[in-house]
Amino acid sequence: MSANKTNRIQDHNKKMPIVELYTAVQSEGSRAGYPTVVVRTTGCTHRCYFGQAGWCDSWYTSIHAEKGQYSINDVKQIYAKNPHIKEMMLTGGSPTMHPALVNELINFSHDNQIFTTLETEGSHFLATDYPIDLLSISPKFSNSVPKLGVETPQGKIVNEKMLKQHNKFRLNYAAIQQSIAYHHDYHIKPVLDAELSILDELESFLKNLNIPDSKVWAMPAGDDRAALFKSYGTVMNYVRDRGWRFTPRPHIMAFDTERCV
Ligand code: SF4
Repeated sequence: MSANKTNRIQDHNKKMPIVELYTAVQSEGSRAGYPTVVVRTTGCTHRCYFGQAGWCDSWYTSIHAEKGQYSINDVKQIYAKNPHIKEMMLTGGSPTMHPALVNELINFSHDNQIFTTLETEGSHFLATDYPIDLLSISPKFSNSVPKLGVETPQGKIVNEKMLKQHNKFRLNYAAIQQSIAYHHDYHIKPVLDAELSILDELESFLKNLNIPDSKVWAMPAGDDRAALFKSYGTVMNYVRDRGWRFTPRPHIMAFDTERCV
């Protein structure tokens, strides 16, 4: 699936699949430390479960997707109220499920000199009218696959259907390759658990796509402080010795499971 480059949102008052809209300090990847506006879309192609490290930290956009409640005008307004912010983090869920919305926001960013980072698991390629400044790609490896019989955050039991859904667009190499070629810049943000269980898969992914070490920002797994600290030191030391970059997720340390931070 790719976006039609003329695909735009005409009605800027219409509620979009945007579930959260807030200001924060970017805390992951190469733009960490910048004040930013976070636009979080709802709906995801995946159903990530990281074992001991828990479910997707934004499960309310994926496993139990909430309804969107903000419009394009709401996005414009938050920038008008915060003229010092010149960054946008477009995240999810899976923003690439919403081509017209992403394209509209990229047009807004372009017209207002806003640096935009699109967080994606890499399931779909989108040809936006202007290439996106930075793709922050978190490919989902086998340590993200839910286990049959496990309970979801809202008490659903994982079944075959959920596994199928999770794996449908997982590790879509063609989409990731096309996205890297089309957009301005990228980095890869793998989630590593305390056992470093996906290293072989990760190395082969990096080799297949010819990704240099400087483009890899490893993230410790964990959807709350306690879970995060289980993998923190191990991942940090591994990155030190492997020559990648470490992205510490300070928003979880500062605010634990609070939303909109
Ligand atoms: S791809 Fe991201 S948003 Fe979707 S379920 Fe996985 S961690 Fe959550």
